[in-house]
Amino acid sequence: GGGNNNGKDPRKQSIIIMIAAAVLSLLCISYFTRAVSGATTLEIPYNQFIEMVENGKVESVKIESSQIEITPVSDKKKNENSSLLANAVKVTYVTGKVEEDDTLTKRLLDAGIEVSGTVPDGSGVILSLLYYIVPTLLMCGLLSLLFRKMTGGGGAFSMGKSNAKVYVQRETGITFRDVAGEDEAKESLQEVVDFLHNPGKYVKIGAKLPKGALLVGPPGTGKTMLAKAVAGEAKVPFFSLAGSDFIELYVGVGASRVRDLFKEAEKNAPCIIFIDEIDAVAHKRDARGGAGREDEQTLNQILVEMDGFDNDSGVIVIAATNRVDMLDKALLRPGRFDRHINVALPERKDRLEILEVHFKNKPKQKDINLDALAAKTAGSSGADLANIANEAAITAAREGHKEITNNDLTEAFERVAIGPERKSKAMNDHERKVTAYHEAGHAIVGHVLPDSDPVHKVTIIPRGRTGGVTWFLPPEDRSYKSIYELKDILARAMGGRIAEKLTFGSEAVTTGASSDLKNVAELSKSMVVEEGMGKDTRNLVFPEGDTGYYTIATAKPYSEKTAELIDQEIRNLSDEAARRAEIVLSENKTTLKKLAEALLEHETLEEKELEPILKDTRLPAAVKLH
Ligand code: ADP
Ligand code: ZN
Repeated sequence: GGGNNNGKDPRKQSIIIMIAAAVLSLLCISYFTRAVSGATTLEIPYNQFIEMVENGKVESVKIESSQIEITPVSDKKKNENSSLLANAVKVTYVTGKVEEDDTLTKRLLDAGIEVSGTVPDGSGVILSLLYYIVPTLLMCGLLSLLFRKMTGGGGAFSMGKSNAKVYVQRETGITFRDVAGEDEAKESLQEVVDFLHNPGKYVKIGAKLPKGALLVGPPGTGKTMLAKAVAGEAKVPFFSLAGSDFIELYVGVGASRVRDLFKEAEKNAPCIIFIDEIDAVAHKRDARGGAGREDEQTLNQILVEMDGFDNDSGVIVIAATNRVDMLDKALLRPGRFDRHINVALPERKDRLEILEVHFKNKPKQKDINLDALAAKTAGSSGADLANIANEAAITAAREGHKEITNNDLTEAFERVAIGPERKSKAMNDHERKVTAYHEAGHAIVGHVLPDSDPVHKVTIIPRGRTGGVTWFLPPEDRSYKSIYELKDILARAMGGRIAEKLTFGSEAVTTGASSDLKNVAELSKSMVVEEGMGKDTRNLVFPEGDTGYYTIATAKPYSEKTAELIDQEIRNLSDEAARRAEIVLSENKTTLKKLAEALLEHETLEEKELEPILKDTRLPAAVKLH
């Protein structure tokens, strides 16, 4: 989501705020000191007042419109045994007026007490009101200004009707052409654009157009861009809000913001309202702790607004989420977000298009190979690719290149994937050797096993938090993975530690395999729990219940016995992976040594350098799974 600030110089603003604060605190100080120095005022019950009168402890009273001010007998005249007034130094007592007691004045006069009254005078009342209200208002104003600054200009505290303006964009300037790939999503959204262009055409023929469209897809796939492109194509204003904005707001503020946003939008119809991360406010109610949370009120307000407005008016709400399964069903009913548009991670050709969009205005060498980059970035989102493009430009600039080179591309890709190279990190000879055998182990197991992806590159140059890296060319965007592939992935992940074990002895375990082992644990768990791939639990899955934002320790929906079985299945998978890796590496010990030595010499080996070394490997029959 994007918010445009109102363009004021933030430094000027804070100076103004500081001056305002200074003036205000002066005002406050004088206000309070006056109240204190005037007299100490003590409120007492009416009967105590009457008691004081009867005991002759009152010197004078002033009857005002709503209270009675009592001045006690002063120190000089003070009665010896007057305990009540023992330390009365300039104390004024007040008490509420009791309307029924209309003999009071007479009694006071009889007791010889000085009685005075005030004429209820309009201007006086107004003045005293001002006296109380003005500083309060000023204080509120200042607080809200400060609050606004703290919350980054969102204006959570301002009750006015125009907060939504902060988020409005008259012209997004983005069209479908700026969004590479995503043809299906664009096609579905084209209809929305048509409607915004010419609502009359649809209304005349009795068509009911959707009020809401839900863009469903992983982060960074261009959902915000698509929504902006709809507004851009239709040339209508774009209002936006993010669900996460509501999470920390005070009760009622979220709902009132939604109300304001819709009100403003209706005035500007036709237009687009974009709600990013709607799952933050609209996750299933049963997945949450208590009822009546702020986000629930916000959600309800969104529903009320959507039901309330007429879709002839041309306000279309587009929301984005990556978890449609988490959303409250109420949100998905007809007349609300009944239209779902999938925004998927880009396929290879789309990745190339996205890269082309982001490299369009960057100087690059003629032979730059964006397709090779597209090939090895399976699973990356548009945002990831945009990030790589930017990183490539930064790398080129750092290296002093006038144009981006293929090396800059590779460096950018690896930097984004794993982290920057740490050439400076000194590894001693033994560490280098361990790393070389470790990476060679991954590479050989991956190369030998039939269902693993081809080895693309091996390096023992530390990068990010890793000692070295073995890159496998990811399989091209298939929707499914077989159990054979997954088991080969497990085995090649184990390859690193097993190679260390075979070379340096089974007691010489290092910390170099911790992330491999973590990957093995995660993958084998998901195979058993989510994919029904356990041996004795084949075709059974074990969902752990909704893990919503506010889930409080959900009980596992299966027995202890089943839990043990699951643990055993997971363990079997990683044991099997270690066994298979060990069989492969024992069978190919010579190649392991050759590859490790080549790595120690060259540090990095690319596909074509790996080929002659890996061609001598053998596939032992015992590791075949089919
Ligand atoms: P989302 O809303 O799905 O999280 P965004 O729309 O905010 O994703 O995308 C983030 C950034 O990623 C965009 O500003 C753009 O630079 C880039 N991007 C994502 N998808 C695409 C695409 N299909 N074409 C071009 N750029 C894209
Ligand atoms: Zn490893």
